[in-house]
Amino acid sequence: MLVPSLIECKRDGAALSAGEWTALVRAYGAGEVPDYQMSALLMAVVWRGMTGAELSELTAAMLESGDRLRFDGWPVPRVDKHSTGGVGDKTSLILAPMVACCGVAVPMMSGRGLGHTGGTLDKLESIPGFSTQLSLRAAETQVRQLGCALFGQTPEIAPIDRRLYALRDVTGTVPSVALIAASIMSKKLAEGLDALVLDVKSGSGAFLPDEARALELARTMIGLGEAHGVRTVALLTAMDRPLGHACGNALEVEECLLALRGEGPADLMEVTYALGVEMLLAAEVVAAAPAARTRLEATISSGDALQKLGEIVEAQGGNPAVVEDPALLPQAEESAVFPAPRAGTVTAVLPRPIGHGVIAMGGGRSRVEDTVDPSVGFVITARPGDRVEAGQPLATVYARDAAGLAAGRAALEAGIRIDGASAPPLPLVSHRVTAAGTEILAR
Ligand code: URA
Repeated sequence: MLVPSLIECKRDGAALSAGEWTALVRAYGAGEVPDYQMSALLMAVVWRGMTGAELSELTAAMLESGDRLRFDGWPVPRVDKHSTGGVGDKTSLILAPMVACCGVAVPMMSGRGLGHTGGTLDKLESIPGFSTQLSLRAAETQVRQLGCALFGQTPEIAPIDRRLYALRDVTGTVPSVALIAASIMSKKLAEGLDALVLDVKSGSGAFLPDEARALELARTMIGLGEAHGVRTVALLTAMDRPLGHACGNALEVEECLLALRGEGPADLMEVTYALGVEMLLAAEVVAAAPAARTRLEATISSGDALQKLGEIVEAQGGNPAVVEDPALLPQAEESAVFPAPRAGTVTAVLPRPIGHGVIAMGGGRSRVEDTVDPSVGFVITARPGDRVEAGQPLATVYARDAAGLAAGRAALEAGIRIDGASAPPLPLVSHRVTAAGTEILAR
């Protein structure tokens, strides 16, 4: 296999022939293709796309590069939720224990921050002692025992995606329908699921901001899921502003704990419930959305979901006392209120500058080998449409030192627009996509 010819083929807009993606993935896995050639090929895919046949082959090759979770003969339905990535997007940590309390198993394999977006693993690892590094067999056992495991892609699962994901993160090759779909689905198809709910983000903070491309991504992933026998449904949700107030790892965990006590911000809860309802419907444990919502709400009012999270934290080596006492989470050395520079109407809270701000403060990665400071980030109370007075607090910056505070302030100055020209906020949940078609829920 001559890799430069494959790169040239994609660069010039042609499709690789049957078998070539499989051979390439195998050769990359064997260390025979260097990262610089793979990066060039990925960039060509970003520009040129892939045919359906190429995409199925790449996804299958990535899936088959590793092992899968096995639940043979276990009657409990299994469902997961996966987001295409956002800022302040923390629904996984709320949904997993809620859904696990409804008689549905949740083998939730998550990722790390990618580009300007946060990652569930980085959030979980802000819980002292929490290990996301479960072996495949340990994850299976925990799912059978507790109904849920929250873990990272083990070296056994889609190992090629693991390497490509890290490479794409630092080579500007994330925003491609084909690459995102193959990456997400190669992992999700390894989880031994009956059903999968996809949270496909659209808006300026999404990897694919444009609604039409987000819908294309949703349909592409649904096609891959259904082709492998996994019932797959997607909701298109807003990422033109951060979700909830907290952005930054430990701060987001704290907001999830509040949410599990029934005190979560309204926008976060709306998206969380919408996804949770789809998870219960897809798992076929309820027949209709209102019944699903009632069951999910009961897991919060009873305290069961919070208790379940405590059990998961303990099983994975974390300090379960965090669940009752969020002050045990890593705390930033410095904090400062960010006041409104002038009176006016907040016209936008832009996720990208905010996500980059978290990274600039040390709460994310700009190189593969960077370590993450879990304590830093923002709590942003300003929302698009709010009328504010000069000096009114819009957010609080949490940083490790004065330089971090300055970086955080700069990010908020760029991200929070007052009286600027901006598009009206997107509906939080705008479309529901299934194999049968697309329903518009809000405009
Ligand atoms: N999440 C993934 O797992 N992969 C991507 O490419 C983007 C988001």
